[in-house]
Amino acid sequence: MKVLKFGGTSVGSAERMQLVSEIITATSEPKVIVLSAVSGTTNKLVAIGDLLLSKKQVEASELIEKLYSEYQIFITKLLSKSKQVESAKKVVENSFVLMRNYLNYPFGRSKNNELVAQGELLSTNLFNLFLEENGIKSKLLLALDFLHLNSKGEPVVKDMAEKLNSRLKENNDHQLFITQGFICLNNEGDIDNLKRGGSDYSASLIGAALKADEIQIWTDIDGMHNNDPRIVETTKAIKHLSFDEAAELAYFGAKILHPATILPAQEAAVPVRLKNTMEPQAEGTLIDKNIEDRSVKAVAVKDGITAIKIKSSRMLLAHGFLLKIFQIFDFYKTPIDLVTTSEIAVSLTIDDTTHLKELVKELEQLGVVEVDGSHSIICLVGNYILKNSEVIKNLFHSLEELPVRMISLGGSKNNISVLVNTEYKLKALQNINQGVFGM
Ligand code: ADP
Ligand code: ASP
Ligand code: MG
Repeated sequence: MKVLKFGGTSVGSAERMQLVSEIITATSEPKVIVLSAVSGTTNKLVAIGDLLLSKKQVEASELIEKLYSEYQIFITKLLSKSKQVESAKKVVENSFVLMRNYLNYPFGRSKNNELVAQGELLSTNLFNLFLEENGIKSKLLLALDFLHLNSKGEPVVKDMAEKLNSRLKENNDHQLFITQGFICLNNEGDIDNLKRGGSDYSASLIGAALKADEIQIWTDIDGMHNNDPRIVETTKAIKHLSFDEAAELAYFGAKILHPATILPAQEAAVPVRLKNTMEPQAEGTLIDKNIEDRSVKAVAVKDGITAIKIKSSRMLLAHGFLLKIFQIFDFYKTPIDLVTTSEIAVSLTIDDTTHLKELVKELEQLGVVEVDGSHSIICLVGNYILKNSEVIKNLFHSLEELPVRMISLGGSKNNISVLVNTEYKLKALQNINQGVFGM
């Protein structure tokens, strides 16, 4: 069994859905196909939700009708046989009747999640009809039937395994299963989701639950690149990454993977392969448990970082100071990314500023607090990177003209992170591309 996930651009048009159908039928082994919404749809649904939340019914209605016409056109381009065209019209009608209803009733968080889920429900239903029209046998599975969050808001692979395996058993005359990425049910039984970009995470959870042979993430680029291709001009695809390397890159901003994707696959020891839908013959990136020695692989960048410094002479030769700081962050459920300390000060970074005010107020009991927003973490990743003095020398050389706010080295064997103001991000990435990767 393989799990293949196709992102928004991969299902973004009739031609792209044709490419996807060629990829999934190229070999005969059983597959679960996980689809995102058609590219652009989730953004539009989020925009409609925001308008409804702020009670702007007229504007919301306009966007709903615009999206409705786009799906009418999509159907005519995708399907030609009347049976499937009629079914597709019903699928689209169902979603849009629901959306139009939101205009007339109170609209809150759970309705908003239901609204945003329509993207994946539409793409999977339409793709399934496309396969049917082309005589390809497939079974649509509803992710809401097997992907459930527990009381902590987390999916549980073991529970998924039971539910999914029984679905597959009921349909053991099928080889191809189509399901939605991103969407799930929460502990209250309401529709929820795995956060933006979450279809990658769905695929990894499904692959882990089924102990699949491989999880493939099909997207619009030929694998993980050594640097962010949206920011730096010359980048190249990496052939192989260890799970740890890929997890660090995903967490520290490599958008090709949702930050949580790697862990379920890693725990179940299922390899992950990144592939390009538009260039299926390209090798892509293989992510598995194998570790190569002392190689520098890639740099990623995570924006929207806030640095907090707590300075206190009371810290000198005292114990328990760090504990007090961490307890405050723990109380407000705010994760910390980087930490650096000196004898009289601690600097740390967060990306969730929901409770910033409360955090600062409490930290001020411990010392003088300084807060700097608009920072970016630049994270260089490679196995045993710390043992590679050449890489460290080249990294510092690349950053020598730039004001670096924090450096974190030694926390893990495969990452060095530096914090810079976001205005220096581009220069830092360009310099690292030249100085560390020689590109
Ligand atoms: P999908 O819709 O298929 O999930 P995404 O847009 O979420 O696709 O992810 C693919 C994009 O990730 C690429 O088009 C690329 O611009 C971006 N990206 C950012 N960093 C990297 C990286 N290091 N390697 C490859 N792609 C990256
Ligand atoms: N459609 C969702 C999003 O745009 C999930 C995904 O594409 O992975 O965020
Ligand atoms: Mg994505």
